[in-house]
Amino acid sequence: MRVAMLSLHTSPLAPLGGRETGGMNVYVREVAAQLAEAGVACDVFTRRTEPALPEIEALGNGARLVHITAGPVEHLEKEALPPLVDAFAEAVEAFREREGLTYDLIHSHYWLSVASGDLLARRWAAPHIAMFHTLGDVKLRARASEHETPERLEAERRLVHSLDRIVAATEHERQLLRQLFRVSPQKVAVIPLGVDLGRFEPRSRAEARAALGLSQTARIVLAVGRIEPLKGFDILVRAIAEMTHREDVRLILVGGDARASVERARLLAVAAEVGVSDRVDLVGAVPHERLAQYYSAADVVAMPSFYESFGLVAIEAMACGVPVVASRVGGLTSTIADGRTGYLIAWRCPSPFAEKIDLLLENEALRDALGANAAQAMHAYSWRSVAASLIEQYEGLTTETAQVAAVGGA
Ligand code: UDP
Repeated sequence: MRVAMLSLHTSPLAPLGGRETGGMNVYVREVAAQLAEAGVACDVFTRRTEPALPEIEALGNGARLVHITAGPVEHLEKEALPPLVDAFAEAVEAFREREGLTYDLIHSHYWLSVASGDLLARRWAAPHIAMFHTLGDVKLRARASEHETPERLEAERRLVHSLDRIVAATEHERQLLRQLFRVSPQKVAVIPLGVDLGRFEPRSRAEARAALGLSQTARIVLAVGRIEPLKGFDILVRAIAEMTHREDVRLILVGGDARASVERARLLAVAAEVGVSDRVDLVGAVPHERLAQYYSAADVVAMPSFYESFGLVAIEAMACGVPVVASRVGGLTSTIADGRTGYLIAWRCPSPFAEKIDLLLENEALRDALGANAAQAMHAYSWRSVAASLIEQYEGLTTETAQVAAVGGA
């Protein structure tokens, strides 16, 4: 089987933690490699943003990343990409034709790719499966001041119906698709994301702190993610000011590139306002391969997000044996067992976060017990099993397409 995987707006090899680089990039990279390992040839197509990049790069285990020229060869904001959806599809088709390949199935990520994939699916008469990662309508409901273009909202409302299968990260997302768009649950496969358990595993806190030059005695609260309002990091900064032993507490915020400067400045202003500037460190993006050290150094990981369709950070932290205090939203409700592997907070406000983080920092035995439970629970999540579940879906869809073609031809 040969799969065309579309990741139009962001490359699976882009540095993580930027405005548009996070869970989806990790997903595409890990899944493509695991599919190839399982014998499914996988070409991932992304829009070329730099002239110097080779046309084809290896993604691991024989999966390939293909840079497709559509529009100017430079970084463009996501908002500038909708007019390039057709050109992207055309250029993928030109590549396919030139290489003499046939793709059995299209797997698209995020609505821009789904829109391109829709055109290719018709042209190739191939089944189309997609993961949206986020949906505009869901974001708008999660946080009052989120903004989404009518173009995205309209496209998603339409595209969910033209797909052959939608992959949702959680049962909750499957229900949202039903409630918001009347998508039949049969059309949605629930496949949770994975974690690289070789990279993210329990390690010595003292050694991790020594390696990072962090105090051995401080109480370290860690948050990781794209620095954007939807992550709710301001809630956490305010929570630090409300904690009992706040003098010893350090909040380390990992993530954000140059384009996060506005949100970064807002977070620093909040820290100044509540008098914790000296206890909050925004350390910028950290490469994925070095992140395990940060998780291991932390006493607690916090995710005060307004929404997470899945929340890879939570399962990475838990795999490292660190309990997570998180908002009771989206995927976090399916990965964190409240009171057993971490805590789920129903309100997007500082006090309940401060209370639960305090509880864990004050009680080492509790923190260690929850951390151990968390590490144990994460053995259920692996990228290999994500790929195996996807292959089941692929096989079902390609068989159906072949049967329909046979009936049509008869
Ligand atoms: N990440 C990283 N370095 C950073 C910030 C984030 O490697 O500086 C990774 C993080 O480990 C996780 C992903 O980016 O794998 C974020 O995924 P998540 O699902 O938590 O959030 P999303 O980006 O999808 O909103």
